[in-house]
Amino acid sequence: MAQIIERISSVLKRICHAAMRAGRNPEEIKLIAVTKTVPTLLIMEAIEAGLRIFGENRVQEARDKIPEIMQRSPATNLSWHMIGPLQKNKARYAVKLFDMIHSVDSKGLAEEINKQAMKAGKIQDILIEVKLSPEETKHGIRPEGLFELLEFTSGLKNLQVRGLMTIPPYSENPEDSRPYFRRLRELLEEANRKGFPLKELSMGMSGDFEIAVEEGATMVRIGTAIFGERRR
Ligand SMILES: *Cc1c(COP(=O)(O)O)cnc(C)c1O
Repeated sequence: MAQIIERISSVLKRICHAAMRAGRNPEEIKLIAVTKTVPTLLIMEAIEAGLRIFGENRVQEARDKIPEIMQRSPATNLSWHMIGPLQKNKARYAVKLFDMIHSVDSKGLAEEINKQAMKAGKIQDILIEVKLSPEETKHGIRPEGLFELLEFTSGLKNLQVRGLMTIPPYSENPEDSRPYFRRLRELLEEANRKGFPLKELSMGMSGDFEIAVEEGATMVRIGTAIFGERRR
């Protein structure tokens, strides 16, 4: 317990300092604790330490963990975010489990989430994941297709697009992520000029979140720096 408190306060302090360096209000930045592969007991400790927003990247794992944690937790204001790639056939569960889905990158997926949200009587908050690196394996829509997708989703009544998300290519040097973060912010600004009221920038992980905050992140997704190395 002492260790997790120490790690969380160190992460919060680093977010705070990065925000101040950039002349930003640290309260604009939400910490999403990434709990994939993290055992329930450790997540309970993080809740006890004060964290409230958690990110999972697999629907199946989330279906196993979230109900158990919600039942055991004394805190009633927990929020769960889907940060990993989502298959259309899992959209039904995702809509039930998550307050925010960060990984929408196609019309087909948006349409399916909208349909499931309508059935559930819910307006689903989503982010559009943008692919800014040339790597073939990365998910996300290319910037060239972003505004068409935003146009399309604005016609879906049970979806609310809140912002953009990206994952830069892995690098040992956090500075390598900066151009990707900056590009995502520019795309958000361009979207705003075109009349799309997006606010959120989900960017930055354990290795590069300070750079992301300097470049305008409103959500940082942090696993390892809080929970330690993952086993899988
Ligand atoms: C695992 C994961 C993270 C957190 O990664 P860390 O390096 O452990 O902080 C953030 N975002 C996504 C999409 C992830 O899958």
